[in-house]
Amino acid sequence: MNTWLEVAPNSDFSIYNLPFGIFSTNKNKPQVGVRIGDYVIDLEQTRKLGLLNIPRNICNQSSLNPFIGLGKIRTNAVRLQLQEWLTQENTPLKRHFNQIFHKIEDVKMHLPVKIGDYTDFYSSIEHATNAGKIFRPDNPLYPNWKHIPIAYHGRASSIVVSGTPIYRPQGQFKPTDSPNPVFGYTKELDFELEIGAIIGKNSEYGKNIGTTEAENYVFGLVLFNDWSARDIQRWETLPLGPFLGKNFASSISPWVVTLDALEAFRAQGPTQDPKPLPYLQVEGIRNFDIQLSAKLNETTITNTNFKYMYWNIAQQVAHHTVNGCNLKIGDILASGTISGSEVGSYGSLLELTWAGKNQITLTNGETRTYLENGDTLTLAGFCEKDGKRVGFGEVMGKIV
Ligand code: CA
Repeated sequence: MNTWLEVAPNSDFSIYNLPFGIFSTNKNKPQVGVRIGDYVIDLEQTRKLGLLNIPRNICNQSSLNPFIGLGKIRTNAVRLQLQEWLTQENTPLKRHFNQIFHKIEDVKMHLPVKIGDYTDFYSSIEHATNAGKIFRPDNPLYPNWKHIPIAYHGRASSIVVSGTPIYRPQGQFKPTDSPNPVFGYTKELDFELEIGAIIGKNSEYGKNIGTTEAENYVFGLVLFNDWSARDIQRWETLPLGPFLGKNFASSISPWVVTLDALEAFRAQGPTQDPKPLPYLQVEGIRNFDIQLSAKLNETTITNTNFKYMYWNIAQQVAHHTVNGCNLKIGDILASGTISGSEVGSYGSLLELTWAGKNQITLTNGETRTYLENGDTLTLAGFCEKDGKRVGFGEVMGKIV
């Protein structure tokens, strides 16, 4: 597929992708856009010109929720219509180019969805085993781990879009050499490389979603950085789980890559042994081959892949709703830290430095155990196969 628009061959935002997001310009308030190469397609303007059959007050909104609420059949039809126009000469999209297209450097990106609830899973067996080994060397994986997609309910209000500064949190923690807790700025600020699934359909209160229909409830995916303060987390987590060590900030990438765009990049996940209970069993290929990386300032510190996830998104949705808990449009289910089996594929500094025991050296010669003020942490992700590239761009945050 070729487009008349100039798109760099290595662009994450190829003709195969066409993700949705919320952008604003000097003249326009936040509204729905579609990314192609270094351009943003103004969906409200396209609608006003009578080119797309979308109801009023959907594309001029400051979140994708009303647009997502049209349903996947209609939202993907919009995507496919744009794709067709972008590949054919003499189309209305090209004729109205100046009214419809904005250069990416002229727009500001915003949070793509209004997030009602956010749940963070713990679905990478490598991450769970590493985190377990660090704190419980004899018994790294809890006995329930291979039976339940473990998760906790996170905080939605502090999820921010890429580029938003991250304030080093203060809190209470207990130094190992002290009998009493102290108060101060965290000394162990970390990132977690994750993928977030954006819920695309309300489920009914009291009703569960089976694994076969689970993906119908997912609109698309974003990169997700679950910033974590390890010292605060360590002191507070028992007995009820993560709280202030996690909920001060999470960052997401601005463009929601649809599951439709990711269809060509499905990959077989790990074998699940023992076999999960029937409500968690899946048919078909439910993992996705997404190459992921984390960069600390100018140095790439990890390369991993979303296909390593032990529990896939369909299983997470099925488990989340099995008790009748309802999901809503705009909710985010984060995957949990994504680690591979090698040191260079770990998705957090906790693992990369083995809880601060081993320093990592950056290309400029500086060393780190955890994040310092002024550091910038950037996650990136893309799929590539048969000359097609579909990517997420980046999610970036600077510690201040
Ligand atoms: Ca996490």
